[in-house]
Amino acid sequence: MKVLVCDTAAILSGLVLSSSLKKLCPSSVISEVKDLKSVWILETALKSGKLEVRDPKQKYVSTVIGAAKATGDILSISKTDIEVLALALELMEEGYEAIILTDDYSLQNVSAKLGVKTKSIKTMGIRGFFEYEVVCPACGFREEYSYNTHCPRCGHRLLKRRKKYS
Ligand SMILES: [Zn+2]
Repeated sequence: MKVLVCDTAAILSGLVLSSSLKKLCPSSVISEVKDLKSVWILETALKSGKLEVRDPKQKYVSTVIGAAKATGDILSISKTDIEVLALALELMEEGYEAIILTDDYSLQNVSAKLGVKTKSIKTMGIRGFFEYEVVCPACGFREEYSYNTHCPRCGHRLLKRRKKYS
């Protein structure tokens, strides 16, 4: 079974919402997501079950640190990226075909050293991603990245509609 392991940029790109494959990331990725839009993407992905948070075992983290030292990437690879790769290794050991979604050069390099496949976020076709906004059919209230189900102005039930990502 194929799974995608996401780095922070992969989450921010909105790809977590568009691909139908199972996606995972370590909790350190979650803590790097701060702005309103990205938090919305993240929470929507988590709520819809499109993304699962899981931290790798220390043994895999150690393997990645060893490989990063060997390739000379240890100073440029982030702690979060080490955990992303460690999680991919752990999933592979469990029989999954894990692919890391990243544009980070050091992460790609150390992944190659450990035989883990990576895919560039830029090549994934972000055109397929849609953002949502809610609109109130009664009073015209509109809000992006909304958690409301009912209009805060008039109380009417809000409609959710797709907005093309640009
Ligand atoms: Zn309204």
